[in-house]
Amino acid sequence: MAILEIRNVSRRYADLSAVDEVSFSVEAGEFFTLLGPSGCGKTTLLRMIAGFEAPDAGQILLDGVDLADTPPEKRPVHTVFQSYALFPHMTVWDNIAFPLKMAKKPQEEIRRRAQEALEQVHLADKSSHFPHELSGGQKQRVALARGLVNQPRLLLLDEPLGALDAKLREEMRGELIDLQREVGVTFVFVTHSQQEALALSHRIAVMNRGRVEQLDEPSRLYGYPANRFVADFIGDINLMEAEVTEASHSHLKLRVPGLGEVMAPPLPDAKAGEKGALALRPEQARISAHAQTAELKNHFHGTVRGFLYLGDVTVYTVELDNGVSMDALLANSAPGRAKFFDIGDDVFIAWRHDAGLFLRE
Ligand code: ATP
Repeated sequence: MAILEIRNVSRRYADLSAVDEVSFSVEAGEFFTLLGPSGCGKTTLLRMIAGFEAPDAGQILLDGVDLADTPPEKRPVHTVFQSYALFPHMTVWDNIAFPLKMAKKPQEEIRRRAQEALEQVHLADKSSHFPHELSGGQKQRVALARGLVNQPRLLLLDEPLGALDAKLREEMRGELIDLQREVGVTFVFVTHSQQEALALSHRIAVMNRGRVEQLDEPSRLYGYPANRFVADFIGDINLMEAEVTEASHSHLKLRVPGLGEVMAPPLPDAKAGEKGALALRPEQARISAHAQTAELKNHFHGTVRGFLYLGDVTVYTVELDNGVSMDALLANSAPGRAKFFDIGDDVFIAWRHDAGLFLRE
C-alpha cells in the first residue's frame, strides 16, 4: 500500500496557483523526488505534507489516514532543511537527543536511539563537537540524524544539499543513497537539480507551474520524456520542429524543416500530418570526420561552430548544411585529450533510426 497519497491537492496565493490539482502516491521505502524549476510549487507541496500549510482543495493521506486535522507537530513526519536548523549552543549529541528529550522519553531509550542515529550518519566520533566545529556536510548529517531519531514515517528533505560545494554534494549524494537504503525510511526529496534527482531517486515527479508534468523512474524520464518541458529540463537535448509524414508500427518518418526526412522510432497512434518536435540527446548523435556513418539512416553534413570541454566529455555544436544547429557529445577517453575537432572542421552527424523521439507537445 502507498504510504503517502496526494489526491487532487491545490494551493493558491491570491491569483497564483502554486500547486494545481496534483495527485500521486509514494510507496513505503521509496526515495521519491519532487523536481522542477524555481517557483514550480515543490516547496509548497512539501510544506503541505509537513502541515506548515493547508491545501485549499484535495487530500493528503498518510498510511490511509487524512492528515487535514493533524497539526504539524503531531504528524509522524520530519523535515530536513537546507539551512540545517541546528542549535548552535548544543553539542552534536544534544542536538540529536533533543527531540527525544522533548518527548520525555526514558534516559536509557534516549541514549540508545541517539547513539544509533549518530552511527547511521557516521558521526559517532563527533558527538561532543558543536555545530561551528563541523563541516557543511557534517552539519547536514547531524540534521539528518535529528530527523531519523524520531523514527518518522516520512523524511521530507527540502534542497538538503543546496548549501554544499560541488564535491561535497557529490559525496553527500552517495551517503544519502546508502543511508536511505540502510534505514529504509521513505524519503520525499525536493530539488531543482536534475542531476541530483536522477542520481538519487527511485521515482521523480517533474513539476512545472504547480502541476506534475511527468512521474516516472529516472531512466524513463531521461529516455522517454513525455513532452518538451521534461525533455528540456532533464539533461541536454536537441529539439527540432518536426511533422509526421509516415507512421507505421515499425517507424516514423518525420519532416524536419532544414533537414528533410528523418527516421524515428514508432509512436502509438501517431498519424501523418501531426506536428511536434524531434528530440535527440547529444550522446545519441555521432560525430565523425568522414562519411563512415553512412550506414545510419539519419546522416547529415555540417561544420563545427563551437565546443564545450567538460573534462570527461566535449560537447560540439555543429551547424548542418541547411543551417540547423545540433549538439553532439564525444567522450575524451584518452588522457589529456580535450577535443577531437576544431571550430570550422567539416564533420558528419548521424544517429540511429531508433534513437530520436517524436514529442507531440
Ligand atoms: P524554489 O525552488 O525557488 O523554492 P519552489 O518550486 O519550491 O521554488 P514554491 O516555493 O512552492 O516553489 O512557490 C511556488 C509559487 O508560489 C511561487 O511563485 C511563489 O512565489 C509562490 N509562493 C510561495 N509561498 C508564497 C506565499 N507565502 N505567499 C505568496 N506566494 C507564495
